Amino acid sequence: MDIKVVKFGGSSLADAKQMQKVKNIIFADRSRRFVIPSAPGKRCKDDEKVTDMLYDCYELSAAGKDVDECFDAVKARYNEIISDLGLDFSLENEFAKIRAAFDIKAGRDYIASRGEYLNGLILSKYLGFEFIDAADVIFFKNDGSFDEERTAPVLTERLKRADYAVIPGFYGSMPNGTIITFSRGGSDITGSIVAKFAHASIYENWTDVSGFLMADPRIIDSPKAINSITYDELRELAYMGATVLHDEAIFPVRKAKIPIVIKNTNAPEDHGTMIVSEPPADESSGIITGIAGKKGFVSINIEKDMMNQEVGFGRKVLTVFENHGISFEHLPSGIDTMSVIVREDAVGEKIYELIAELKEICSPDRITLEGSLALIAIVGRGMIKVKGTASRIFKAISESDINIRMIDQGSSEMNIIIGVASDDFEKATKAIYNELCR
Ligand code: ASP
Repeated sequence: MDIKVVKFGGSSLADAKQMQKVKNIIFADRSRRFVIPSAPGKRCKDDEKVTDMLYDCYELSAAGKDVDECFDAVKARYNEIISDLGLDFSLENEFAKIRAAFDIKAGRDYIASRGEYLNGLILSKYLGFEFIDAADVIFFKNDGSFDEERTAPVLTERLKRADYAVIPGFYGSMPNGTIITFSRGGSDITGSIVAKFAHASIYENWTDVSGFLMADPRIIDSPKAINSITYDELRELAYMGATVLHDEAIFPVRKAKIPIVIKNTNAPEDHGTMIVSEPPADESSGIITGIAGKKGFVSINIEKDMMNQEVGFGRKVLTVFENHGISFEHLPSGIDTMSVIVREDAVGEKIYELIAELKEICSPDRITLEGSLALIAIVGRGMIKVKGTASRIFKAISESDINIRMIDQGSSEMNIIIGVASDDFEKATKAIYNELCR
């Protein structure tokens, strides 16, 4: 039988009603054998996520303040789920251990990780599945990065011994046993790691949306859903802000060529989005897969006559950025010009020093700055095969009376990036969507 690894996000496990949906989904397919829960998320718009409540408790305790009121609210969230599910089960011993951990100044990550840990205990009881503590099977190195070498044999062997299990997301342990977490939203990464070492046929990531949309619904009215997307396309869109899945979650399964499917716990019959290495051969994809963009970029334009003949010019420019710890986002260049596009918040006040240094080291003829830029990425594996996509994009933008400030095409020909003034961002996105996606 195939093995499916299923990860449920916080909103899918926010209360007993959601947990019941989760149970129905899991029991509808017996190959859903390994379940990765997040901590309980928001039950409604103004609610708080348990992870945020735990961070608040930690801050209070670190500041020497009383944590009881804050921690009681956390306990109440779990107790309500337990009683609404009608479980004969108590977390009081676990609560006492965590409460004691505040007194001995246990780490921030330990406290935050208890959100997933406690939810995992409830879910395993509710499903009748074995509980595997992530601290025993997911390992980190001392520098805080994931330790695949140590994790692989232990996790593989442990999963082989389990028929059905719940493994809490988000955390693991360091060589000395201390608990450490991934970055926020990291249960997605745990799910991907478990899918890899369970040799799963698929990694199902259940959330509160039916997958990725072709554009941001705050800009485009009811954008179309994306049925399938390649890992590479997803990287491009996610980088530009299309967030449904943690950025790093694709890496473990991508190597193992395990597809991820994003599904909606509240509408399980919806198709969702399949994330795959290669799209199915018989699939007819549109020209583009999606559009995403972000505001807040600045372009530093450097001009110098005969720049093209000066060996090492680009290196000198980039060294200045490197020395200031700033990574660049795009690097469009001409014969005598080169632009370095960076995030405005990454340069901040450093901009003056940076320009002074560029002048000194690179002796350019002119440096100009163009702030308040928005970048829009138009991503699609279908673009390689179709002629005229770029011209349709430019025409649509110019017909909307928008000035294009920058154009960059990725070497894979899978994306075109356009820079426009931040004020034109929404209008440009609409123009591109209407031209290519309607
Ligand atoms: N509960 C953690 C967070 O809110 C991790 C996760 O949900 O994936 O970031």
